[in-house]
Amino acid sequence: MGDIYQDALSRLDQAFKFAEVEPEVIERLKHPKLCLEVSIPIRMDDGSLRIFSGYRVRHDNSRGPTKGGLRFHPSVTLEEVKALAFWMTFKCAVVGIPFGGAKGGISVDPKSLSRMELERLSRAFIEQIADFIGPQADIPAPDMYTNPRIMGWMMDEYSKIHRQHVRAVITGKSLELGGSHGREDATGRGGYYCLQELTTLRKWKPTNIRIAIQGFGNAGQHAARLLADNAFNIVAVSDSKGGVYNKNGLNVRELIRIKQEAGTVEAYAYEEANKGVSKVTNEQLLELDVDVLIPAALENQITSDNAARIKASVILELANGPITSAADAILEGKGVLVIPDILANAGGVTVSYFEWVQNRADYYWTEEEVHQRLHKIMTREFLNIYELMHQYQCDMRTAAYTYALNRLNNAIEAQGTQRYFAASDSDVNISPQNMLKDEPKQA
Ligand code: NAD
Repeated sequence: MGDIYQDALSRLDQAFKFAEVEPEVIERLKHPKLCLEVSIPIRMDDGSLRIFSGYRVRHDNSRGPTKGGLRFHPSVTLEEVKALAFWMTFKCAVVGIPFGGAKGGISVDPKSLSRMELERLSRAFIEQIADFIGPQADIPAPDMYTNPRIMGWMMDEYSKIHRQHVRAVITGKSLELGGSHGREDATGRGGYYCLQELTTLRKWKPTNIRIAIQGFGNAGQHAARLLADNAFNIVAVSDSKGGVYNKNGLNVRELIRIKQEAGTVEAYAYEEANKGVSKVTNEQLLELDVDVLIPAALENQITSDNAARIKASVILELANGPITSAADAILEGKGVLVIPDILANAGGVTVSYFEWVQNRADYYWTEEEVHQRLHKIMTREFLNIYELMHQYQCDMRTAAYTYALNRLNNAIEAQGTQRYFAASDSDVNISPQNMLKDEPKQA
């Protein structure tokens, strides 16, 4: 896990080969703007005191205020948060929304806390980072093991500190607290829209497409539901405890009900009606004979150890960073199409942007309006990046990074890079005198 930020940065060097950017832009994007580490003392229900570590990283704000989720998980480290913030910068640029990248989290097993301990921890974290975030500066959102209720506590805490309602400080809130229609399933839906486009391009018949999904939380569950409702064949799903597999297909609506009631997807295999269903481990699920594999849990799931055994011909990365760069090279050699995280799961941040816009305008859209706008953005950027991949003869991740890098470069260059500052005045296009001459005359 120690190399995760360096591994994330290695994508930049690949994109640099194709993007028309100056080296200083790459250098700038290699360094996060701000890293904050806080300790959060919490009085536990039994009277004891525990200190938790929390982080918030703002990677780059060239294109606007920074945006990114908050993760509650024992594996959260500064290194991981830096990588996740880096990915957010590129993700926002891929979908062309006016945000930079950030991420945050607390190193904690939220399942071990009582509800009141969880609320105290969520509020205390905001108290610690309140000077760091804000609707015009840095806007958090949910990520692994955080949800609309936690976003609500956090928004409320920030509002108390500022003595006014500040809904736009955080997204992913429940509808009653200023959330947006369509935010709940936006990540899965954005990924589904990508697969819809691919289905048309490859002339697939959905019933023939077998899909395995690792992770059955927000991202994985909604993707499974949308895909199953549109005739795709979901043959395997898993959560942190393990998974279930049936080569003839699983009943996704039933799976969702059982996961909600029993807390695990494995319980599905014990139901009387599901005799042909077998249990699989998370490792086995990744290597199943399927057409599409959807990692929707943690990073670093497909590595140089197991990449050669992956049988899927398409991987849709709903999780952030599930494939290491070494594994990428192996998959590329096998001809696997990887729809990269910065595109595949960008539906979440896109609808978070919609939520922020609605909060600032205090005017709310219908679910249909949200879906239409999301569909337009996801399909446009999927097709643009797909075309770029063919144009450059590279993999889709490199195409997506190149695409985003060009947008980031434009924003950075608009304020001047070495090419502008070191140019001689004879360079008529960019000399300062010439720029002044071009300024519109006062009326
Ligand atoms: P979640 O907390 O709702 O669900 C996480 C799921 O992963 C759960 O089903 C959990 O059981 C499972 N899981 C945990 N550890 C696992 C393991 N070792 N093996 C298999 N499954 C495991 O989280 P989420 O919001 O669905 O996020 C999942 C991934 O999607 C993360 O990488 C997150 O960064 C990414 N993502 C989420 C959003 C969003 O809007 N929720 C947006 C973009 C990216």
